[in-house]
Amino acid sequence: MDEAQWKAIVNCDETFDGRFFYGVTTTGIFCRPSCRSRTPLLEHVRIFKSAVEARSAGFRPCKRCRPDTPLRPEEEMVQGVKAIVNRRFVEPLTLEALAQELSMSPYHLHRMFKRLTGVTPADYLVAKRIEAAKEALRTEPLRTITEIALAVGFRSASHFSTVFRKMTGCSPKDYRAQYITAGTAQEAAR
Ligand SMILES: [Zn+2]
Repeated sequence: MDEAQWKAIVNCDETFDGRFFYGVTTTGIFCRPSCRSRTPLLEHVRIFKSAVEARSAGFRPCKRCRPDTPLRPEEEMVQGVKAIVNRRFVEPLTLEALAQELSMSPYHLHRMFKRLTGVTPADYLVAKRIEAAKEALRTEPLRTITEIALAVGFRSASHFSTVFRKMTGCSPKDYRAQYITAGTAQEAAR
């Protein structure tokens, strides 16, 4: 097992579904990476390339994530969109570009993704960028807000600030200040 696989299991990352399966030696059950069942201990995990391989090693499919049934095409589409966005959110990704990569019409992609996930591909992309920006604001005090905005895929700092405020209820500057103050207070308490 590599680190990416272990992270996928811990985070129930559905973008890894179909790429591998994992069995838990203490229960004899195997799952998809996205399964919401309790995270097993690292030393009890065995990785398989396919459901067939897991079965032939004596593992039974989990009743919750049904790893022995193939992904439905729409699940594959959602997984595909998420995988591309997670990997390339810093690029100027458009709905058209996503649709082209998945060989679908932009209209169809937008509608299906929204129906299955409750958000549009554009919403998902923005949420991913904001998540990355939050992490950078918390952990990289020396980078300016403009640098962070551009690094996570926004075209300008002002657009970034507007979106950030809308999604989190505070400005990037205030968000950062909370963490820096909290960090300083923690230091002082030691
Ligand atoms: Zn499962």
